[in-house]
Amino acid sequence: MITIKTKREIELLKIAGNIVYQTHKYLQPYIKEGITTKELDKLAEAFIRSKDATPSFKGYEGFPTALCISLNSEVVHGFPSDRVLKNGDIVSIDIGACYKGYHGDSGWTYMVGEVPPATKQLLEDTENSLYAGLKQVKPGNRIGDISNAIETYAKEHHLGVVKELCGHGVGTSVHEDPEIPNFGTKNTGPRLKEGMVLAIEPMLTLGRPDVYVHDNNWTVDTIDGSLSAHFEHTIVVTADGYEILTGE
Ligand code: MG
Ligand code: MG
Repeated sequence: MITIKTKREIELLKIAGNIVYQTHKYLQPYIKEGITTKELDKLAEAFIRSKDATPSFKGYEGFPTALCISLNSEVVHGFPSDRVLKNGDIVSIDIGACYKGYHGDSGWTYMVGEVPPATKQLLEDTENSLYAGLKQVKPGNRIGDISNAIETYAKEHHLGVVKELCGHGVGTSVHEDPEIPNFGTKNTGPRLKEGMVLAIEPMLTLGRPDVYVHDNNWTVDTIDGSLSAHFEHTIVVTADGYEILTGE
């Protein structure tokens, strides 16, 4: 069931979204060669808790940590660990925060130091595919319009679209209906209505889009080892478009 949020709920979702956004901003100066992904997780968890919020992912279906931190070919759901960031890595950091029972969810891929031009392009194109999807968000349009816009943008830029994972509704649960695939057909799927809150999150690859799951039963990785990027915002559908809750 896709819920329409009340004004009060949207206010709380805005606060949760803003905490997620602030956590990304807080972490950015630390995303450098030499830091471990576990250290980033600890910093973010303390920051989220300092805002009277809790990390949405910690304990979610058994997920062990506050953040999902995925390196290079890893698509999503990486476990923070003693791995050290190196110059040339890309790191996808997915942050969820829960404030007074309402969640915000935003993932972003960052460069560590200098990365090759093709890698930089992957990040730029994946971020742009998110905005191509967001352009379709307005009452009356359908989920398939978002999915199709992301897929079309990705294909035009010769990138693989990971099909096993998708965007979702956000509210009192971090994952609610509807599912928002990053591929699909225009004019299909549920119709968008004012007051829906959605996380839209393309996951694109430089090579083939096929993925497998690590032995930890969580971390999703590309089979061919190609690099993968992930950009996600939580948004609310407004009367004439959308408002981003996890950004400025
Ligand atoms: Mg999400
Ligand atoms: Mg996320």
